[in-house]
Amino acid sequence: MDTPLCRHAVGEPAEYAAQAVKLGLKEIGFSEHNPMPRDDFDDWHMSLGDLEEYIEKVARARRTHPGLRIGLALEVDYLPGHEDWIRELGARHPWDYLIGAVHYVSDSWDLDNPNKISQWKDRDPFEVWSAYFERLTMATESGLFEIIAHADLCKKFCFYPERDCTPLFTRFLKAARQKGVALELNTAGLRKDCKEIYPSPPIVRLAAQMGVPITFASDAHAPGEVGMNFAQAVELARNAGYTHCCRFAQRQRREAKF
Ligand SMILES: [Zn+2]
Ligand SMILES: [Zn+2]
Repeated sequence: MDTPLCRHAVGEPAEYAAQAVKLGLKEIGFSEHNPMPRDDFDDWHMSLGDLEEYIEKVARARRTHPGLRIGLALEVDYLPGHEDWIRELGARHPWDYLIGAVHYVSDSWDLDNPNKISQWKDRDPFEVWSAYFERLTMATESGLFEIIAHADLCKKFCFYPERDCTPLFTRFLKAARQKGVALELNTAGLRKDCKEIYPSPPIVRLAAQMGVPITFASDAHAPGEVGMNFAQAVELARNAGYTHCCRFAQRQRREAKF
C-alpha cells in the first residue's frame, strides 16, 4: 500500500491501519514506490529526501494501532542497471520485505501510466508483453526481492496479445520457484480497465502447479481500498490449489494457512 509521498495516493498510514482493524485484518504492510536514482526520474515515486518521513509515518501507524502487525516495505521498480541502487536502498533500513515491480519496459515508458496509453497504439502487444515478462524474470532472478508485484500489469489497459503467452509466464514462474520469490495476488486489477486480479487465473494455476508461494495485496492507494476484494483473491488462490500464503518480517518468509 502507498502513502501520499508518491503523490498519487491519499490518506495517512494510520488511517489505512484503522480501516484494516475495522475489517478484522491481523496484518498489513506499506510498500511505497521506492526513491529512484534521480528524483526527477518521474512524478510518481517517492523522493529520496522523504525516506525518513515515510519510515516515521509507518512508525506512527504502529504506535496508534499496537494490535495490528504492520510491515514496512518498499515497492521497488526494477530496471536493468539499477541493481546497485536497489541494493543500497535495501541496506538503508531493516525493511520487512522488498516487492520487485516492473512498470518500465524502457527507460521512458511506464506501460501502466494512463498519460502514456497512446504508446500502446503503435506497438504489437505481444512485443510489449514479451519485454515486460523479460524484465519481470530478470527482477525475479536478481535475488533483490521477496515478492513480485502485479505480475501481469501489462494487461491493465486490455491490450492483449493474440499469441499464446504461456512460455513467458512459465519462464518467469520457474525463476520465482528457483529463487523462492513470492507471487502477489493483487486486487487492484479489479479496479482497472482489465477488471481482473493481477495475475490472471491461468498464471495463478501455473504458479500453484510449480510450487510458487503467494501473498495477498490490495495495493490500496486510499484507506477505503484496504483489503478490497480479498474474498475474491482468496477464492482465486483456493481454486488454483493454494492453502497457504506467506508473511514476511525482517525479510524472512513464514508460511501461513489462509
Ligand atoms: Zn502507487
Ligand atoms: Zn506497482
